Amino acid sequence: MMKKIAILGSTGSIGTQTLEVVRRNPDLTVTALAAGSNVDHLETQIREFHPSLAAVWTEEKAKELKRRTRDLPVKIVTGMEGLLEVAQQLESEILVTAIVGMIGIRPTIAGMKAGKDIALANKETLVTAGHIIMPLAKEYGVRILPVDSEHSAIFQCLNGEDRGQLHKILLTASGGPFRGKKKEELREVRPEDALKHPNWSMGRKITIDSATLVNKGLEMMEARWLFGVEPDHIQIVVQPKSIVHSMVEFMDGAVIAQLGTPDMKLPIQYALYYPERRPLVGERLDFSRMTEIIFERPDPETFQGLRLAFDAAAGGGSLPTVYNAANERAVAWFLDHKIGFLDIPELIGRCMEAHKVIDHPSVEEILATEAETYERMEHMFLRDYGEK
Ligand code: NDP
Ligand code: MG
Repeated sequence: MMKKIAILGSTGSIGTQTLEVVRRNPDLTVTALAAGSNVDHLETQIREFHPSLAAVWTEEKAKELKRRTRDLPVKIVTGMEGLLEVAQQLESEILVTAIVGMIGIRPTIAGMKAGKDIALANKETLVTAGHIIMPLAKEYGVRILPVDSEHSAIFQCLNGEDRGQLHKILLTASGGPFRGKKKEELREVRPEDALKHPNWSMGRKITIDSATLVNKGLEMMEARWLFGVEPDHIQIVVQPKSIVHSMVEFMDGAVIAQLGTPDMKLPIQYALYYPERRPLVGERLDFSRMTEIIFERPDPETFQGLRLAFDAAAGGGSLPTVYNAANERAVAWFLDHKIGFLDIPELIGRCMEAHKVIDHPSVEEILATEAETYERMEHMFLRDYGEK
C-alpha cells in the first residue's frame, strides 16, 4: 500500500532527510511540499517527487516558482493560507512537520483536524502548545509520531509497555561542542565555534541550541507532553557520543535504552512506517570495536539555558513560549555577531522574569506572547546591546 506524505519545511535538514527516506522506499509518495524561500531547491524536489501541491512563503517567490514549474501539474500556494492548505490536503495521510519555529503550530493543528497523523519534528509546537495539541490528537484520533531522535528513542522503548508503569525518562544529550567548559571560557565563543556539533549535522538554529543545551530544555518540554511525564521525572543525562538516544526507567527499576549511530533517517523512517520497521542502509554500531559508553551530569552553572527550561516548564502556561521565543531571537542575534554566547541564556532569563504568565493560553495568546517577547527583546537590545 502506498503511503502518502506531505512535508512542511522540505528544503531543510529534516525535510531533505525525509525525502531521502522517500527516495529509498518506493511505497512512499509525496503529495505536497512547503518551503520558506528556497525556490531553487524546491523546484528540484518538485521535479523529482511530483507533488500536486507546493507552498512558498511570499507572493514574489510563488510567482518565480510558478514560472519555473509551468510545465508541471503542480498547484503553487503562499503564506499561512498555503501552509494550511498543504497541511489539510485531501490526498495526504501523514504530515511531516519539519518547519522551524512557532509558525508550525497552526498548520499542525489544521493537519490533525483534517485527520492526518503527524510525524513531528517541529519542537516549538509541543513546547508552546502541548496542552492544546495532545488533547486534540486524542479528540481527532490521530497519532503524534516523534521524529526527534530522543523522543523516537523513548517512543521505541515504550513500545508495548504500559505507560502507567513508567517511572522516569532519561533524556540523553551529547553535551554539544562546549561540554566540559566552564562558563568563563564561553564568553568569547563565536558562532563558527558553536556551529561545530560533534555528532549531528542539523540546521543552524538547532545546532546553536545544542551548544547552549537549550535544545535539551526544549526536548524536555516536548517529552513532557508526548509521554505525559512531569518534568521532575525527566532526567538529563550527557552521553557524549550520541549512541544511546534516550532511555526509560520503569517502576521496578528496569531501564530500557535505544541505541544506534547518529542518523536522523532512522527516527524519520520509524515515524513514517510505525509500527513497522524497514531496512535502512547506513553505518551500524560495531560492538566489537566500541569499548565504553560514558555518562555525565550536565553542568548547570555553565549551561544556564537548561535550568531556565525547567523553570519555564514549572511556571507553565505561556512561560515556555517566552523561553522559546527569546531563545529564537537571541540565537539569530548571536549568529549575526550582535550578542555574545552567554547573552543567550541571560536574555531568556530576563524575558521570563518580565513576563506575566497566562495559564492555559490559546493559540492566539501563544502567538501574542511570542510577539510580545520579540518586542521586549528589541527594547532590551536597543537599551543594553546597541553600543557593542
Ligand atoms: P532547517 O532550518 O534546516 O529547515 C527549516 C525548514 O523550514 C526549511 O525547509 C525552510 O525553508 C522551512 N521554512 C522556514 N520558514 C518557513 C515558512 N515561513 N514557510 C514555509 N517553510 C518555512 O531546520 P531543521 O530541519 O534543522 O529543523 C526543523 C525543525 O525540526 C525544528 O523545529 C527543529 O527544532 C526540529 N528538529 C530538527 C532536528 C535536526 O536534526 N535538524 C532534530 C530534531 C528536531 P527554506 O529552506 O526555504 O528557508
Ligand atoms: Mg534531538
